[in-house]
Amino acid sequence: MSFLSRVLASLLVFAGVALPASASDSLELIELTDNVYAIVGELGNRSTENLGNNATFGFVVTRQGVVLIDSGAGYQGARALHQVIRSVTDKPISHVINTGGQDHRWMGNDYFKQQGTTIIASARAVEDQKARTRDQFSRLASLMGSEAIEAIRPVYADKTFDRELTLSVGDTTFELRHPGQAHTPGDSFVWLPAEKIMFTGDIVYTERMLSIGNYSGSKSWVESFRAMAAYEPTVVVPGHGAPTTLDKARADTLDYLVFLRETIREFMDNGGDITRIGSIDQSRFDYLENFEDLAGRNAQRVYSELEWE
Ligand SMILES: [Zn+2]
Repeated sequence: MSFLSRVLASLLVFAGVALPASASDSLELIELTDNVYAIVGELGNRSTENLGNNATFGFVVTRQGVVLIDSGAGYQGARALHQVIRSVTDKPISHVINTGGQDHRWMGNDYFKQQGTTIIASARAVEDQKARTRDQFSRLASLMGSEAIEAIRPVYADKTFDRELTLSVGDTTFELRHPGQAHTPGDSFVWLPAEKIMFTGDIVYTERMLSIGNYSGSKSWVESFRAMAAYEPTVVVPGHGAPTTLDKARADTLDYLVFLRETIREFMDNGGDITRIGSIDQSRFDYLENFEDLAGRNAQRVYSELEWE
């Protein structure tokens, strides 16, 4: 069986493997190869039940220990991820990679740091995390309650890189690359060259609508996506959504970004005012979850961005 069909077969076989009822209830474990896994969280917003882990994570079991991609949205969220990992291996977590500045990418660092884990992120991501720590705390508190955030202590990466870093752990090579701003200023992707598996962090959203915040940049997001896609991954593990193909990643992320930018540019060229931005028809993407909540806001952000380009 070819690698591709083996991976696709394992996706089919393992999709839907449910974990025992616990704090990690809302997390789904998906085996991609013998040692590469995705942990898929909910597509909706952060909640007391999902511990803020409304995102997709990943881990690789190497001879030397486990490399975890993104640490969860806090101490409890990190522990829930660890519980899922423990269902596969007892090996220690040797490295955590934070793929960006969003809470679920890094706020669980403290939990792993206490176990002696090395934490790695782009320098730009750490800068962004520091700048938005307070905002992220108050957002988590409003969505999950103030008790949920009491145990969270901000811990930043101890090893940073500007544009790229190659990491060898045990028998596995990881290529980390920060192509530029995307959903957040310091977003990175993690490429496994031998396995041709790509962990994209928040550069790719599938199944749910992506969110353009005031910390995002839609123009460079398009470029970051293309830099990631140039690796031609066999499997894309998105930052939100289940492991999938590059085509699906393009359809749900790149096509939407390009559509928004082109449609809004045209709207502005025709004298469209931001107060009428709601008239833009985004129904082509209404199959994506959270469409109602995010479509209008995304259009407003892109409008504001284009005014300055
Ligand atoms: Zn995210």
